[in-house]
Amino acid sequence: AADDAMYLAKGAGKNQVYFPGVASKRSVYMLSPAELTNAIANDELELFFQPIMSIHSGTILKAEALVRWNHPRLGRLSPDHFIPLAEKNGIIGRLGNWVERQALCQLERWTTLFGEDFQLAINKSALELIDPEYGACQLEQQLLCRKLSGKNLVIEITEHSMLEYSEATQNELGKYRALGVQIALDDFGTGYSSLMHLKHYPVDYLKIDRSFVSSLNQSNIDYRLCKGTTHLAKLLNVQVVAEGVETQAQHDLLKPLGCDFIQGYFISKPVSAIEFEHMAYRHNHTRIKPDLTAPLF
Ligand code: C2E
Ligand code: MG
Ligand code: MG
Ligand code: MG
Repeated sequence: AADDAMYLAKGAGKNQVYFPGVASKRSVYMLSPAELTNAIANDELELFFQPIMSIHSGTILKAEALVRWNHPRLGRLSPDHFIPLAEKNGIIGRLGNWVERQALCQLERWTTLFGEDFQLAINKSALELIDPEYGACQLEQQLLCRKLSGKNLVIEITEHSMLEYSEATQNELGKYRALGVQIALDDFGTGYSSLMHLKHYPVDYLKIDRSFVSSLNQSNIDYRLCKGTTHLAKLLNVQVVAEGVETQAQHDLLKPLGCDFIQGYFISKPVSAIEFEHMAYRHNHTRIKPDLTAPLF
């Protein structure tokens, strides 16, 4: 509802939120770095989770965590409204750390509920990866505290401020990998998400950007790009996730291409933790024969 109650003006800064009023008089709200810093400390942020389904088995044993800001006056804000603000003002490390902690808390619960194969993906921009205050060392301590294994966590490198290839990023990714954490290249094929990264970074998953998937069934070039990308990934031993799958037709085309996982409104929108839990539990239960020797609860 909050999303309907306000909108971003075209051409305005991304951190400006407009309240609709009389058509001619709209009030503008500028998000400030200080406000975001407080929001992180006051737990105004919330993670939503979008299921990632295995195209072969139909099970949901993965999810992507997507951050939202429950703003006291503006309602629920999507990350595009405040991630760039965090990146520009040196807050992205702190925000990312908050996301990581919340994600591990959910993982602790969900590996118990869904089994040791469950994986949760979080997004990190390249800027965040080279923030000296946070990083693999911090994560190692948190994993130890919770007796969790890194293999249940995936880091998606997002396009937002994806820098060109850098050795610092490569080194940091190597440290995450050493903890067992898996790496995904997000929005592959757009912006800075390039072959250069496939060449130099330790990549486990490649996520085909929504823009190639959305007209898969109408556009021959998009179909071929998806096919070629999947083929390339297979040659490099990288698993493929198709993003933004919205229809049965897209799903049906992706399956024979060798795509491994699908994510998108066809399965579910991002939902709250409790909704995800119920949905995945119900969904998997009809597919996995329950192991009665190891009760889930
Ligand atoms: P992303 O990582 O590529 O995430 C996918 C985005 O596509 C999400 O938008 C999701 O809600 C949307 N989406 C998923 N399936 C569909 C579909 O079938 N159709 C359509 N139209 N959209 C779909 P969201 O949640 O607004 O996130 C936007 C971006 O913000 C993310 O793109 C990611 O780059 C960034 N982001 C989200 N959470 C974090 C975070 O914790 N840290 C950082 N650094 N960036 C984040
Ligand atoms: Mg992502
Ligand atoms: Mg993406
Ligand atoms: Mg994106």
